[in-house]
Amino acid sequence: MHLERHEAVIVGAGLVGSLLAIFLRRRGLAVHVFEKRPDMRKMSLDGGRSINLIVTSRGLAALERVGLREAVLDITVPVFGRMIHDLQGELTYQSYSKDDTDCNYSVSRAQLNCALMDYAEQAGAVLHFDQELRSVDVETGRLVFSGAEVEAEQIFATDGAGSAVRRSLVEQGHLTDRVDFLSHSYKELLIPAGPSGSYLIEKRALHIWPRGEHMLMALPNLDGSMTVTLYLANAGERSFEQLQDPASIMAYFQSYYADAIPLMPHLLEEFQAHPVGLLGTVYCEPWHVGDRVLLLGDAAHGVVPFFGQGMNCGFEDCLVLDDLMNAMQDAPRSALFEAYTKERKPNGDAIAAMALENFVEMRDSVGDAQFLLQKEVEGILGRRFPTLYLSRYSMVTHSLIPYRRAFEAGLIQQAILRELCEHLDSAEQVDLGLAESLLEQKMRPFLEAHQIELSSFS
Ligand SMILES: Cc1cc2nc3c(=O)[nH]c(=O)nc-3n(C[C@H](O)[C@H](O)[C@H](O)COP(=O)(O)OP(=O)(O)OC[C@H]3O[C@@H](n4cnc5c(N)ncnc54)[C@H](O)[C@@H]3O)c2cc1C
Repeated sequence: MHLERHEAVIVGAGLVGSLLAIFLRRRGLAVHVFEKRPDMRKMSLDGGRSINLIVTSRGLAALERVGLREAVLDITVPVFGRMIHDLQGELTYQSYSKDDTDCNYSVSRAQLNCALMDYAEQAGAVLHFDQELRSVDVETGRLVFSGAEVEAEQIFATDGAGSAVRRSLVEQGHLTDRVDFLSHSYKELLIPAGPSGSYLIEKRALHIWPRGEHMLMALPNLDGSMTVTLYLANAGERSFEQLQDPASIMAYFQSYYADAIPLMPHLLEEFQAHPVGLLGTVYCEPWHVGDRVLLLGDAAHGVVPFFGQGMNCGFEDCLVLDDLMNAMQDAPRSALFEAYTKERKPNGDAIAAMALENFVEMRDSVGDAQFLLQKEVEGILGRRFPTLYLSRYSMVTHSLIPYRRAFEAGLIQQAILRELCEHLDSAEQVDLGLAESLLEQKMRPFLEAHQIELSSFS
């Protein structure tokens, strides 16, 4: 049977696949994108699931490369810090940066996806919907979808954490993978807009209700509403398993999130109607097969969402691939693909580890006195020694320092902060002389070894 042969096929028109299509079109490749779902631009947006995401420096850098930074920023709400809600409803604000200049951007996932699909089509990519990938043959480049069979020179897998491409490649022995599911899952709820599209709680913040083993989070939407996410254990004393009837659901919220109840008039209906989403980390190796297949986005590195980096990392995948394509124009494609795995895989592992650590930080620590003291000291160090100290959080979200270097720098910082805060009652008492000598001894050599210039981000 003669099959249509395409230069480049992207499997999955999600956030990363749609952006990748734009990148590849800019290089003149004939790009066909096959997507399992119907065209979401022609459907009403998923009632009850108004997922929003945080776009940070890496995502923005990738969008900027293809000229879409400003257009995407237009559909976001800037967020400047965390607002912590304690059990009594008291609020504490923690700015993301030392002077409230850095921010993240909250955007509706569906709106961003629709916009990127539009831009991909405008760039000349051909999108095929209702086409679920069934299998890939690496030798021939043959792809079997639910409604079509094609061949491709190059195949880009952007079909998400449960990637069918990855599964097919694992079955054929081309790669290995592992998915570690978290003990916790999530459920989405909504704080509707107030009168005239006003926000019922501070719009410039990511709101967190940290409660030890569980937490609530809220992020602003453009229309004045806030998407709320409950992260809770699957099983056990306080868990989704236990919240099966109206009385137990309301008693749970009354005990832990009493100040949020009046903000969510449809709490009970939403809780009962909305699905529970699983969370997990995808580990896979390598991220390519020969010169035929490359994995990007969640297909290669699904991470838990607690650093807000899954999509940002996937967008950075596209940026790094673009850089490598520029740098290796004369190299065979297998070398290019191999270089991509070599460059990205350690960074993917690092953000996976940091996202899991941040789960514990957001859940347990943001309300903890010692943690808050260390954060204050961290703020002082950043202001006082801007060339030697940038918090790991800022390195990840507000810089383009490779994730693996941010991870390593964070370990050095934690040791320094522990030493400085050991006998402190308040942040102002911090010994700046000791701080400087610790930073000179431990941080400067690290920054120099990896040619990291912090001043450019401060
Ligand atoms: C609660 C939550 C909050 C999050 N918050 C953030 C955040 O603040 N910031 C951030 O950067 N990231 C965040 N993330 C992560 C982010 O959503 C993902 O990293 C991102 O969506 C990955 O994009 P992707 O294109 O790789 O995969 P997906 O978005 O999953 O897209 C995959 C696409 O492939 C299609 N597909 C699947 N299987 C097939 C098949 N067999 N054949 C054809 N097509 C197929 C799907 O329909 C889909 O369109 C969050 C995730 C969750 C769950």
